[in-house]
Amino acid sequence: MEPIKNADHFIYFETGLSPLKELLDQNKYSKVFVFADTNTAELCLPTFRAFLDDLEDFDIIETDPGEENKNIDFCIGIWKTLLDFDADRKCLMINLGGGVITDMGGFVASTYKRGIDFINIPTTLLSQVDASVGGKTGIDIDNVKNMVGTFSLPQAVFIENSFLTTLPKRELLSGFAEMIKHGLIKDKSYYERLKISNYETLIPEEIYRSIEIKNEVVTEDPLEKGLRKILNFGHTIGHAVESYALTNSKKPLTHGEAIAVGMVCEAYLSAKYCNLTEDELADISKYLLSIYPKYKIVDKSFDTLLELMQSDKKNEDGHIMFSLLDEIGKCVFNCRVTNDDIKSSLAY
Ligand code: NAD
Ligand code: ZN
Repeated sequence: MEPIKNADHFIYFETGLSPLKELLDQNKYSKVFVFADTNTAELCLPTFRAFLDDLEDFDIIETDPGEENKNIDFCIGIWKTLLDFDADRKCLMINLGGGVITDMGGFVASTYKRGIDFINIPTTLLSQVDASVGGKTGIDIDNVKNMVGTFSLPQAVFIENSFLTTLPKRELLSGFAEMIKHGLIKDKSYYERLKISNYETLIPEEIYRSIEIKNEVVTEDPLEKGLRKILNFGHTIGHAVESYALTNSKKPLTHGEAIAVGMVCEAYLSAKYCNLTEDELADISKYLLSIYPKYKIVDKSFDTLLELMQSDKKNEDGHIMFSLLDEIGKCVFNCRVTNDDIKSSLAY
């Protein structure tokens, strides 16, 4: 598969990391660090080493897994570790893990000594099709997501299907929701293909197309001034539902489960405010509800959800902004809707 070009770097597919090997063979870097969490250190590092024929000498920086560790305290720990290793500006950081590792590793690399090179090797489906493309790095502050970060591009991204073999089904399904979103906002025939595919045995070509779509959007609007907002379809309500479930449910939702709920609600709003037809709405909600759990939102939760939506950093002039579907495969942004309609969408 041809690499995809983003600005001045490539996203490589199924290469067995050979371009990385070539890069490291040039001895351009003073030191190479691999940043992983304890899960990816155990499950992905052996494959990574095997790809590189066990030739390379790396220092491993390991962190605890999970969103709760994507914070400034862990960054300080990593910056200090780099200092302890005498890392200079010519070192390279390879982020081997899910979105937490690529977001936090990218942030640490883009700020350490005002910026060192980094490479992303995403090991979850979500980080392959979403987090590792587009140059956003960041960390959470007091559980508010991605409050501090940079737009910084990696030197390269490597997508290898073999890393996904150890990923739990629920994590696969979480990333699959972003793939469905990519079809809904930009490519109807891709959406139709996904409907008849099986998320557990995804073929690399489908992952490739998803990344191609995200890449097209972020290349056109790298700093999120306009078009990039279409990637937010399902996320205005989805993020609020995700945060709500985190504090109010016994079982938190994955990101993908929450945005699947968000996509159904926002498809409802799309039929009301844009040109999405009733048939298209029925198709989207039937499909999403056939693979994602329905999340019941009771009436008394509505005010809390609305507050969460109002605190979204993507709002403008205090207004909640939606990206909605004009049809399957076409998305428009900066839509405003009434609170009553948001409420009806949650009941849909
Ligand atoms: P994650 O990194 O927490 O990974 C999920 C879990 O899977 C973790 O426990 C991890 O240790 C484990 N894991 C990773 N790879 C594995 C493998 N191959 N086998 C088994 N287990 C594995 O989370 P995620 O879902 O990958 O990403 C979510 C993060 O990505 C969030 O912090 C979100 O804000 C961020 N994100 C960023 C962007 C962006 O544009 N920068 C876009 C979307 C999401
Ligand atoms: Zn998302």
